[in-house]
Amino acid sequence: MRILYVEDEKLLADAVTHLLKKSNINVDWAEDGEEGLRLAKKPVYDAIVLDIMLPKMSGLEILETIRRQGIKTPVIMLSALSEVEDKVRGLDIGADDYLAKPFKTKELIARLNALVRRPTLRESKIVKFEDLEFDIENRTVNNVALTEKEAEILEMLINSGEKTVQKDYILAHVWGADMIAEDNYVEVYMSYLRKKLKTIGSKVAIKTVRGLGYKLVIK
Ligand code: CA
Repeated sequence: MRILYVEDEKLLADAVTHLLKKSNINVDWAEDGEEGLRLAKKPVYDAIVLDIMLPKMSGLEILETIRRQGIKTPVIMLSALSEVEDKVRGLDIGADDYLAKPFKTKELIARLNALVRRPTLRESKIVKFEDLEFDIENRTVNNVALTEKEAEILEMLINSGEKTVQKDYILAHVWGADMIAEDNYVEVYMSYLRKKLKTIGSKVAIKTVRGLGYKLVIK
């Protein structure tokens, strides 16, 4: 795997790069937004790890520019926990995942693997819901790859049919009690899933039931 890592904090970048390389991930490092954008246009990366706050050009601007140009390299955004709006905006304009700073490099590697993983040749186990074909084993929906958490959430939604799945239930089951999960994690993952359903062109949508949770509806 070869990734582009855009990060202006040199000490952090060095430490993370060192650990990624130990996991056999090749890293090209860009330390400002302009250099990041220049490199991001190259079709050689399996994924881009993109900090939001950068000199010269922000991570969001880079993301917006490459997506507008039709570049589909998977992007993981990095942002401070306080920058919820940036995260949501990043997801809106085409980021595939985000990681809050500070993060563990192990977690970044897991996300990268989930994002870049090609469907394996395991026997598929397909669950259908309207026009969706969800392959539990290979974690794809209509052949679009899902991350582990996206797949867990989609499985819950599909299993519940048109009944509402409570947000607390999702939080507890996907993140577990030992995780300092924030309420907005669920919302953020719903936006990932909505984006994927949109990519597929499915007539199934995820509806927010205010104050309760989420359910699948037919548009
Ligand atoms: Ca930064």
